[in-house]
Amino acid sequence: MAIVTQLTRNVLEVRQIRKAFPRPSGGELTVLDNVDLTLKEGEIVGLLGRSGSGKSTLLRIMAGLVEPSAGETLFRGKPIDGPAAGIAMVFQTFALFPWLTVLQNVRLGLDALQIPEEEARKRALEAIDLVGMDGFESAYPKEISGGMRQRVGFARALVVHPDLLLLDEPFSALDVLTAETLRTDLLDLWSEKLMPIKSILLVTHNIEEAVLMCDRILVFSSNPGRVVAEIPVDIPRPRNRLDAKFRRLVDKIYERMTMPATIAAPAPGVPTIAEEGITKALPRVSTNSMAGLIEAIAGPPYNGRADLPELADDMHIGMDQLFSIGETLSLLRFADLEGGDIRLTEAGRRFAVEDPNIRKQLFAERLLANVPLAAHIRRVLDERPAHRAPYARFAEELEDAMSEERAEQTLRSVINWGRFAEVFAYDENQAMLSLDNPS
Ligand code: ADP
Ligand code: MG
Repeated sequence: MAIVTQLTRNVLEVRQIRKAFPRPSGGELTVLDNVDLTLKEGEIVGLLGRSGSGKSTLLRIMAGLVEPSAGETLFRGKPIDGPAAGIAMVFQTFALFPWLTVLQNVRLGLDALQIPEEEARKRALEAIDLVGMDGFESAYPKEISGGMRQRVGFARALVVHPDLLLLDEPFSALDVLTAETLRTDLLDLWSEKLMPIKSILLVTHNIEEAVLMCDRILVFSSNPGRVVAEIPVDIPRPRNRLDAKFRRLVDKIYERMTMPATIAAPAPGVPTIAEEGITKALPRVSTNSMAGLIEAIAGPPYNGRADLPELADDMHIGMDQLFSIGETLSLLRFADLEGGDIRLTEAGRRFAVEDPNIRKQLFAERLLANVPLAAHIRRVLDERPAHRAPYARFAEELEDAMSEERAEQTLRSVINWGRFAEVFAYDENQAMLSLDNPS
């Protein structure tokens, strides 16, 4: 097996890619660093990472839509500079033109290629047929379901007869059943070799989806994004999610993804969490979802310790969301993440059983002790004579260290937490933070 793969040709090579975006306040934010990966003929490769880790940015670089800050991408051995013919992308939601029919929308994919009208029409009809949309050629996007619209999205990518298909979370906006049907259909097309495609890269934050579809999985870290592990999936197809081997691999990947190095793999010179202090980005997690997860773990059948994949299934939440909540609980020392499990600490167990007032106090203590930004806001409010400070004062401070978007998310989170704990108050209309009960 290994020898065969070595002999097959490389479709795409990504070498030492770095991408940094300028920050509004000056300086730059490194989103991707030292990214290396190779896609070979005949394989579906998964790129598994959390949201915000730079997966979409990397995909756009691979497709030649965005220029990297450093490094190069070779397609069929030649450096990419500009949109590459032979590479097609499918996005999470496809922007179909509402005033065009299915056929016209798919036909659009060929516009750049200057193909004679008759041939273009023939190829569009073939692509529509391939994705199972035969009979809907003259329907308008609003007349078809979300799953069908995504099929049209696939047809628009396939119509150019690409060598390489880049899929950016193409199933994540669909309901569970529709997504599964579409996954199976795509795998069938691939294994029946009905498409001329040589290789597929599937970006996802869904571990099970990656194990179901891919020949190997690359685990992507955050801050900055980089490939930190490669996991071969040697489970025969068709794969069954309930097989013991399938479950074991899902567990193993969960474990790999909760290792601190995957959550934050600091490159030399990048501050670690402890050093980041008040400018550590915080995930968007509400106190409600924290309380919900603590209660779930504390109760039966878990009694304080839960297997993450099981818990995600049980609570009907995705891995991304579960990790964000778990990470926050771990930051606040209400829980520990270890070996693919989440375990409540003593404080977490107390929180689960206490009444709302004690919960608030517990939360306030943990917040001030473990989230430097919360302690910082509190200190600023304490020191100011009127005990008030505008939102913008803290937003500016954070934007020196992170993107505007992340700064807003971080502040929204800390405000949500601080309000719950009554550590400070916030007036939305005036965008003003203040002390709840100035003493
Ligand atoms: P993912 O697809 O893994 O969720 P993205 O590639 O979309 O991640 O984004 C990674 C990071 O890069 C985010 O912090 C995002 O805000 C930032 N980013 C993406 N595109 C731009 C851009 N054009 N300008 C500034 N920052 C950007
Ligand atoms: Mg993305």
